[in-house]
Parts: sequence; structure tokens; C-alpha cells
Amino acid sequence: MSASLHQSLWFDTLGEPLTYRASLNQDINADVAIIGAGYTGLWTAYYLKQKAPQLNIVIVDAQCAGEGASGRNGGWLMGSFVGDSHYLAGQSGEAFQQTKQLIQSPIAEVENILSRHQLDCDFVHSGNLRVAARYPEQLAALRQEFNDLYAQGYDETDFRFIQGDELAASIKMRAGQGAIYTPHCATIHPLKLVRGLANIVESMGVGLYDNTKVVGFGDGLVRCENASIRADIIVPALEGYQGEVHGQGEVSSLGRYTLPVQSLLIATEPLDDSQWQLIGLSHRATFSDAARQVTYGQRTLDGRLVFGARGGYRYGGKTQTAFEPNSEAFRWRSDLLVDLFPSLKSIQITHGWGGTLAMARRFAPHAIFDKRNGIALAGGYGGEGVGASNLFGRTLSDLILERDSQLARSPWAHVSEVKAVLKPWEPEPFRWLSYQLINRVFSWEERLCQQASGSSLQKCVATALAKRLEALMH
Ligand SMILES: Cc1cc2nc3c(=O)[nH]c(=O)nc-3n(C[C@H](O)[C@H](O)[C@H](O)COP(=O)(O)OP(=O)(O)OC[C@H]3O[C@@H](n4cnc5c(N)ncnc54)[C@H](O)[C@@H]3O)c2cc1C
Repeated sequence: MSASLHQSLWFDTLGEPLTYRASLNQDINADVAIIGAGYTGLWTAYYLKQKAPQLNIVIVDAQCAGEGASGRNGGWLMGSFVGDSHYLAGQSGEAFQQTKQLIQSPIAEVENILSRHQLDCDFVHSGNLRVAARYPEQLAALRQEFNDLYAQGYDETDFRFIQGDELAASIKMRAGQGAIYTPHCATIHPLKLVRGLANIVESMGVGLYDNTKVVGFGDGLVRCENASIRADIIVPALEGYQGEVHGQGEVSSLGRYTLPVQSLLIATEPLDDSQWQLIGLSHRATFSDAARQVTYGQRTLDGRLVFGARGGYRYGGKTQTAFEPNSEAFRWRSDLLVDLFPSLKSIQITHGWGGTLAMARRFAPHAIFDKRNGIALAGGYGGEGVGASNLFGRTLSDLILERDSQLARSPWAHVSEVKAVLKPWEPEPFRWLSYQLINRVFSWEERLCQQASGSSLQKCVATALAKRLEALMH
């Protein structure tokens, strides 16, 4: 087990030891070889095996299921994803409703599968609250977000604006002024989901190999450190790690299409009932602070608060899974948590961990079957992949099996060469410089908005600049 996974609350509350499967030590053949036992690889295998049981499928992971973002995340299983508005844009009427239902489908789909396979991952269909809770400008921005959602075609079954007593009954943040509530989110224990899913696909006949690091792939061959797999179709389900594993020929540098970004979380000690009365979240709704810096939280089944925020980008797109426990990065998150819930001032933070996610250049995920090169690819979830990986794994399985389905005809599905669909990120140092610029402008805007006495002209300039940069991102 990697030391970094050990830092995580999910590891401590898994309820069973993290055992490793055998590694691959001899050359084998497969119909489909999947690289990476995270949600994407596992869901793709699950649906392929369900729809075509005769397929010989193998999954290899450099460590084990759950070592990547799938075992480390904030446990929001969302019925939405980064960039879903791209896919809904221009659609109306029946077409809009159908695409919207597909986007929202992972919650019910996963709930059914959990029940069918008796997999317990602390799932609760909790809903989500995005709260304006620290400074006045957040309320106006949140109202605008809400209006934009309705302008797009969503309605009160998808999003409601709540304030006053209704807000206080749901969540009590220091300066809670309003929130967007959506029922389209569930709360889970992420490591239980990915570990359980690995067991399920294995029981369906998929071969899983741990401690099997892939060093290259392409032209029908996956080269691992001690063996190789000859396969008709290769699925590099690597997300944040895509840049670290090189392909051959046409698919030599898939890493240029993803930007690996770190995200970090903390967990409190278990809180007692009196402490929960000061916070709310009785239905365990996931929550975030409505700021441009992405934050996310959940109330765990064992009564802790888990709270995270998006972090940095490392020059050259390096991944990171181990984080210094006493670092400023964790202190900043606990200060923000106490700012949102002042009653947590004396509560102990027991865990701090993080992982690497991936942003696609168009800020929307994709499912691509590059038939000519024998590659099938899904990802680019931008930190919202828990639910989306189910949808995109499901889509990818239909593309691979060449089914004419609603998923295969969805706007995120492509049968095409990868390079014809995806836009590459700019080379260094532009990637790193742009990321620093965006982060600094967002932080500057935050600082100004938090100062009640700050100059309104400065605030306007900072907000205009932040909006401009945000628009460029989409
Ligand atoms: C801290 C954090 C919080 C997040 N919170 C949320 C959230 O609350 N809700 C949400 O929707 N999304 C969240 N996300 C994003 C979500 O976790 C990811 O989008 C999702 O888990 C991606 O799954 P994946 O299978 O594509 O990738 P991963 O889970 O990263 O899997 C990739 C796998 O590839 C393996 N691998 C790497 N290199 C090699 C190699 N050379 N050979 C073989 N195998 C290799 C890794 O060991 C890993 O198991 C969060 C991400 C992070 C990091």
C-alpha cells in the first residue's frame, strides 16, 4: 500500500485490509486490455462484460484499485459534470431532456448496481448545496448561476434557490445568505466503491493484475514492466497519470490532452450530536462554498466533516499523491472550514490527503473509440468524475461494441481518431504560467471580497478579470 493512501480517512474507514492481487508476470492475450483500475477502467470493464460476456478482458494497475483519484476523492457522486453545458448547448425540447437525463443517470444507475451486487459504500442520495456563505458578492454570483441554469432549460426539479429558514434547516454556515440546492448528487465512501467494483468485475470474469506498471502501449501491445499483453483494443484509463505512460505511433503522447491538477482534503474527528446541530447536514447533503476556488465537503457516515479544495499544477504536469501533513496547503483548508463553520474552531483535524485529477483542454470529458489505432479513451473529468466515469465507461462500452445506442449517439461520444476530437494543452512554460495567472487572479478577487472595507473599484477590476479568465477556460 502506498504511504500516501495511508494518510486518507477512506483508508482508515475501509473496514478491511487493502490486499493486493497478483501482478502480471507472463505474456498474455486479451480482447480488451485496460490500463488503470480506477472507476473509468472498472466501469468500462463492467459494462463490456455485462453486454458481451464472451470478451476476454484484463485490467492492470501500477498499484491497485483505489490508488488513483478514485480511492481518494471527496465522495460526491454527481448527476452532472464539468462542461455538461457544452453538450446541452443548442439542444431544446425532447433532445435537451434526453441528454439531461443521461447526464443525471449515474446516481440511479450506480444505486441499482450497488443494490444488485450488495455493495455497501455508504451511498446516500443526499442532494447537494452550493452556498453563498462568506461575503456579499457570492450571493449575486450564485443568483446569476441559478438564472443561467434556468436559461439553459433546467427547472425546479433540478435546482432550487433556498434562503432563510429553509437554508438554516439544511446547513448553517457562518454567513449563509442563500444556496442552490440540487437533488442530483449522492454521497459515497469512494474507496469502498472502487474496491467493491474491482471485486465485482473480477467475479464477472475480468482478469485483474495489481503492481503491474505499464511502460508503453500501442499497435495492439501493452508493455508492462515484467510482461506484455497483446490486445485488439487498449483502454488507457489513466486520467491524471496519462502523461506518465507513453503510447506509440499515433497515440504516442495522449498526456498532452490532459492537465494533471492536485486536489487536497482534510477530515475532522467524529463530531457529536450537539456539534452537528450547529452545522446541520442531517441528510448528509454534499456542500460547497460558492466561490471561484473549487471547494467540496461531505458529512461522512461516521459523523466527520470531510472538506477539500482544488490545489495546484506542478510544472511539466507531474502527478502527486503524497502531501506534507503539516503543510500550509492543509492549514489553509482547515482555516477555510472554520471560517464556514466557526463551531469547528477547537475540533481536531485527523487526516489530510490528496490526489491528482485531470482537466481536458475543452473543459469537458470525452469518450472516444479510435478504431484505427485500437484505442478507446474516456476521461478529462476535471475533478467531477465519480458519477461521470460511470456514464463515460458505459458510453465507451457501447462504442467499443459498436452498438447503435442513445449513449453511442450522445454528444460526448466519438468514433474517430483521438487527435481529431481532443485539443492539446499548450506546451510548457505556457501551461504553468497560465495556471499560476488564473490561480492568482482568483485568490486576489477572494481577498478583496473578504475585506468589507476594500475598494469597490479594485473588486470590480478583479471580478471582471476573473470572469474573463473563467470564460476563456470554457
Ligand atoms: C482529491 C480529489 C477529490 C475529488 N473529489 C471528487 C468528488 O467529490 N466528486 C467527483 O465527481 N470527482 C472527484 N474527483 C475526481 C474523481 O476522483 C476522478 O475524476 C475519478 O476518480 C477518475 O477516475 P479514473 O479511473 O479515470 O482515474 P484514477 O482513479 O486516477 O485511476 C487511474 C489508475 O491508473 C493507475 N496507473 C497510473 N499509472 C499507471 C501505469 N503506468 N500503469 C498501470 N496503471 C497505472 C493508477 O494507479 C490508478 O489506479 C476528485 C479527485 C481528487 C484527486
